[in-house]
Amino acid sequence: MSLESPLIDRFGRRHTSLRLSVTDRCNLRCFYCMPEHGAQFAPRESLLTFEEITRIVSLLASRCGIRDLRLTGGEPLVRRDLPELVRMISKIDGIKDLSLTTNGLLLPEFARPLRDAGMKRLNISIDTLDEQTFQKISRRQGIDKVIAGIDAAIACGFEVIKLNTTAVRGIAESEIVSLVRFAVDRGVQIRFIEFMPLDTDRSWRTTDVLSGDAIRDIIERELGPLVAVAPPNPSQPASEFEFVGASTETGAAGQRIGLIQSVSKPFCESCDRIRVTADGSIRNCLFSQQEFSLRDLLRSGADDDQLVNRFRTAVDAKAAGHGITEGTFSPPDRPMYSIGG
Ligand code: SAM
Ligand code: SF4
Repeated sequence: MSLESPLIDRFGRRHTSLRLSVTDRCNLRCFYCMPEHGAQFAPRESLLTFEEITRIVSLLASRCGIRDLRLTGGEPLVRRDLPELVRMISKIDGIKDLSLTTNGLLLPEFARPLRDAGMKRLNISIDTLDEQTFQKISRRQGIDKVIAGIDAAIACGFEVIKLNTTAVRGIAESEIVSLVRFAVDRGVQIRFIEFMPLDTDRSWRTTDVLSGDAIRDIIERELGPLVAVAPPNPSQPASEFEFVGASTETGAAGQRIGLIQSVSKPFCESCDRIRVTADGSIRNCLFSQQEFSLRDLLRSGADDDQLVNRFRTAVDAKAAGHGITEGTFSPPDRPMYSIGG
């Protein structure tokens, strides 16, 4: 099908990537994302159905040039029958890259069904290798299950597996080197994400951010110098680094490390993403204060043009940048789990 017109905003940014949340529910309660008690979840009937999701993705691929789709949440693997959704969307023409972000807990069960359904790439979150620290961060048990999930996924032959570590100052420092070694041992890339003001408790302070530069210093001190390398996708949020002549001790030669410096070095200028929440609202940025309802349109019998136009309106309204470190910044009403990370 021919491309009608890409989603280009007022600043000339072309949007080719969709992050779609399939649920706001989760089997963990990470402090930087969810409250420990009393999380507010969208009523089940408000979640977009698999058919609604498939319609939206097909439209965006055929008429707006969306080619990358990432499923997220909440924890996407707690959405019932997720492999069935993956099977439906993996057939859509124009979607070149289909990926999923998960906390890994349910991967021992779901890695194989996901791969068989057509999932290509996984990002698996892991902040620590220590059970006590895991419980401190996620308020639940199970680092052994996350590690088993990572190993199950590796065994299933996904095209790419990346590990994501959200780095919070005071917690992450002592884990960074062991997590790099863990990734190196398994031959997968690890990326460190700066802590962003998307926690429910609104306790985020700039002083809690362990910057990408500080993370790089820690890695280099223990494991040797890193050199910046061109990322495979120029609009990806992670800057990539490789070890130079890595020590035989780490065996890390050629291993890539990613730094996602959303706070200290924002990459808004090259942003190519739009988002759809699990309850069917379009968001043009993680940090935007505005949402554009899609669910109401879908359920009121809107035609394809009306749906596409709602995306165009959302993209037209996108701000130049998130302004996290500006005095006027205020966090969005929805925390991370409800937006979709
Ligand atoms: N539940 C899945 C998971 O944890 O991978 C997918 C959703 S989660 C919101 C996606 C990613 O966002 C995870 O890597 C998580 O660590 C990260 N994240 C959550 N809250 C964050 C925050 N306040 N700042 C930076 N990253 C955050
Ligand atoms: Fe759940 Fe992921 Fe948020 Fe942790 S970061 S509470 S695993 S959605």
